[in-house]
Amino acid sequence: MKISVVGTGYVGLVTGTCFAETGNDVTCVDIDANKVQKLSNGQITIYEPGLEKLFERNLKQGRLHFTTNLEEGIADAQVIFLALPTPPGEDGSADLSYILKVADHLGKIMTDYKVIVDKSTVPVGTAEKVREVIAKNCKTPFDVVSNPEFLREGVAVDDFMKPDRVVIGTDSEEARKIMGELYGPYVRQGNPILYMDEKSAELTKYAANSFLATKITFMNEIAILCEKLGADVDMVRRGMGSDDRIGKRFLFPGIGYGGSCFPKDVQALAKSSQEADYDFRILNAVMDVNEAQKLFLIPKVTAYFNDVKGKHFALWGLAFKPNTDDIREAPALYMIDALTNAGATVSVFDPEAMPNVKSVIGDKVKYAENQYDCLENADALVIATEWSVFRTPDFEKIKSLLKQPAIFDGRNLFEVSRMQELGFHYESVGRTPAK
Ligand code: NAD
Repeated sequence: MKISVVGTGYVGLVTGTCFAETGNDVTCVDIDANKVQKLSNGQITIYEPGLEKLFERNLKQGRLHFTTNLEEGIADAQVIFLALPTPPGEDGSADLSYILKVADHLGKIMTDYKVIVDKSTVPVGTAEKVREVIAKNCKTPFDVVSNPEFLREGVAVDDFMKPDRVVIGTDSEEARKIMGELYGPYVRQGNPILYMDEKSAELTKYAANSFLATKITFMNEIAILCEKLGADVDMVRRGMGSDDRIGKRFLFPGIGYGGSCFPKDVQALAKSSQEADYDFRILNAVMDVNEAQKLFLIPKVTAYFNDVKGKHFALWGLAFKPNTDDIREAPALYMIDALTNAGATVSVFDPEAMPNVKSVIGDKVKYAENQYDCLENADALVIATEWSVFRTPDFEKIKSLLKQPAIFDGRNLFEVSRMQELGFHYESVGRTPAK
């Protein structure tokens, strides 16, 4: 099938590459000329495990093309995916201007039947808006389908190639047939393609993300309570997670959720609710708690040093989660701000995200060559992202490099008892500190 993907970011590039992998002919369109040039030259623009190999293979075999020209990019396509940004607008609702602008342009240039697919996360009613905007100028028949994307950065290729489910919102028989054919190879193991009306499809994505953000936030509050009551959140988590109705996943407390999706999607669902005359109270609480949680470690650090002014900190982990270079809404950035505003200096290390951080905050921090260089002359180590490479470090080396053996761990990487044995002052989330 000939496919076009408009927007070649995290979702668009994975979608385009993975559709090419099953033999489709894919053209990715982006307004960022620099990005398109790099991709056309075989240079991948994001870090996503497993993607580069697929990208190189499909580019080489001529099934993957890149262009900045929308008209050229969609000319032969039967299906056009919109993988465009939907950032929060000023009032918290999803900004649909990227989508509607492209929709307007599509209406002017489409000359035969095409299926336009909203893959971006968009509020209920967006497919209808896209349809109206295209129809203003379009002379040929077309369908608009809602097909929200559930991939997770860090495991995006696996998620796309073997999705838990594919959600397709449409009432058009023709579009349903085409979408079913396109996704067939990805659900061979029997995971479902769930066909539904477009509004339900649009809401499913927000409901899923908001539920997951709530689950994390609930555990973060349980962790706070554990500290106050002298319980251990690891024990509580295991005790809870053994119940099938709760499940073991997504129960790890930490320093708040970040990324490009949860924060904006929870906010957008709360806003949609408000517009529908319903106050979604849980979501408001989730946002409040998460805002505070990003700075959970700061009072601990401040209490330990009395005053952080003039202190130097090593920070391990910048990406909002491991296995990605994405730093959007990353808790680490909030901590850097809090520490530097209080007069401290910070050295950072992250296996993939340092170039992105540098492009946003420049020389506000020192960028280390590796995780140990980062520790030189530091008064304490602060951990913000649970990269695997941080899990079994050389503790003796850490001790010898830090001015004092103090670790503030926002991701509960180490056993408290072990840190006690090793002689660290170790504080984490929801567990009794080792002193
Ligand atoms: P992104 O910012 O990484 O990529 C968006 C791309 O669109 C950029 O490359 C940008 O240059 C391009 N673009 C902007 N305007 C354009 C235009 N007029 N024409 C062509 N290209 C244009 O965003 P993303 O993370 O891929 O997210 C895209 C959508 O998918 C969002 O709605 C997001 O909520 C949703 N989503 C994201 C994830 C994720 O993990 N990142 C997962 C599921 C869903």
